[in-house]
Amino acid sequence: MSAQKAYEELIKRVREVSLLYSCESVLGWDERTYMPRGGAAFRAEQLGLLSGLAHEKFTDPKIGELLAQVEKSDVVKDADSIEAANVREIRYQYDKRTKLPKELVEEITRVTTLAQGEWVIARKNSDFKHFQPWLEKVVKLQKDKAEAYGYDGEPYNALLDDYELGATVDQIVDVFTGLRNDLVELLGKIKGAPRKPDVSIIERDYDVELQRIFGEAVAAAIGFSFEEGRLDITTHPFCTGIGPGDTRITTRYNPKRLNDALFGIMHEAGHGLYEMGLDKKNHFGTPAGETFSLGLHESQSRMWENQVGRSRAFWAYFFPQAQRIFKESLAGVKLDDFYGAINDVKPSYIRVEADEATYNLHILLRFELERPLLTGDLKPADVPGEWNDRFKKYFGIDVDRDANGCLQDVHWSAGYIGYFPTYTLGNLYSAQFFAKAVADMPDLTQQFESGQFLNLREWLRENIHQHGQRYRADQLVQRVTGKPLSAKPLIDYMTAKYSEIYGF
Ligand code: ZN
Repeated sequence: MSAQKAYEELIKRVREVSLLYSCESVLGWDERTYMPRGGAAFRAEQLGLLSGLAHEKFTDPKIGELLAQVEKSDVVKDADSIEAANVREIRYQYDKRTKLPKELVEEITRVTTLAQGEWVIARKNSDFKHFQPWLEKVVKLQKDKAEAYGYDGEPYNALLDDYELGATVDQIVDVFTGLRNDLVELLGKIKGAPRKPDVSIIERDYDVELQRIFGEAVAAAIGFSFEEGRLDITTHPFCTGIGPGDTRITTRYNPKRLNDALFGIMHEAGHGLYEMGLDKKNHFGTPAGETFSLGLHESQSRMWENQVGRSRAFWAYFFPQAQRIFKESLAGVKLDDFYGAINDVKPSYIRVEADEATYNLHILLRFELERPLLTGDLKPADVPGEWNDRFKKYFGIDVDRDANGCLQDVHWSAGYIGYFPTYTLGNLYSAQFFAKAVADMPDLTQQFESGQFLNLREWLRENIHQHGQRYRADQLVQRVTGKPLSAKPLIDYMTAKYSEIYGF
């Protein structure tokens, strides 16, 4: 077989694996939106079969043979070509996945399924002792996984790589520590500030159907296509890019609070725009048409949710519309008061309810515990104490119970160690990209004020979306912004916004 033929065969096989995953996506979307509860066991069977088939197909030794043949050939001689990127990334994933012994994968699935059930009980009773043996098992298995993958430096690198390909602790730890110190300082200023927003404005009656209509109008205005996407209701909102021409977003509505669904929809639409901006027509199912960095994905959702959706310019355009739609709740409310209310900062226990400013502190605290857990420097038994000490230091409040502390997130019970940093990376990338977009389009604020958001979407498509996996996240940040990852753009953006709102 010629090298060109081998490349085509490789792509065909990898695309088939992706087709199986996209079938899983449809089933997963259905499970979380419309499936009756009674279908859960059967759905698990369907999903299990599909992921088993996909794994088998992708780890087939034939993939390894085709890779070996293509890698030596002229097909990949231009390192910047799509072919070279495809082969490089397929090789990377193939090596990773074939390194994990089948028994370990099965044991991780078995233990994390049980651990999640036990975590639900432990959180409900705020009983860490109940969860501790499971955390011990999960940490041990994740260590085994890191050893099976192999790593440079510390074991955390191997796990981080599953979520943020190519990222290492060394690359992010200084940026994270600097960010943490600056955030603690910023929070102190906000706490002592003379002005406080009136949050009761957004905690009035907001009719759910009207919220849907307004949310869809906002999503459409920022470029989310309802010809190629849809919005549905779920319990834990998500976005799923099923395939070319089909991207689904979801939300949940709170009839007593405007923020949840509105910014939730903008967040998921941001993920959706990334999926829609990938070149799936030509490259679906191959690295060139897919994303691989949770951090990059999150940067897109956070940019539309925060840099755009929580900006004054955005509301200069949308607030009069919102006032027409939510007549009673927003009657007589001033734009500036509304803008303050949607940007309120208040330290609280729960990460998923956190505002834009405190959110990253929640993440950094988890990152600081996960690393020593893996090296063995922190024992699972000591997690609550360590958590509470740090929480007091960063947020200035005492954790009242473990359900509001180290038991609040599902991630560890599900075996997701190394996942949390991608949230903060997303916020950092988002601020750094947005600062560059503003530099490239100095009238962006005026564009937002007149309801024009598509130039920003085009900028993101051109600079980020269309590349798929051609560049790793750190390379892309350097390429687009001309600088390595830094906490400065995020801190600058927050300081400017909060000093205006809080008057410090
Ligand atoms: Zn997200």
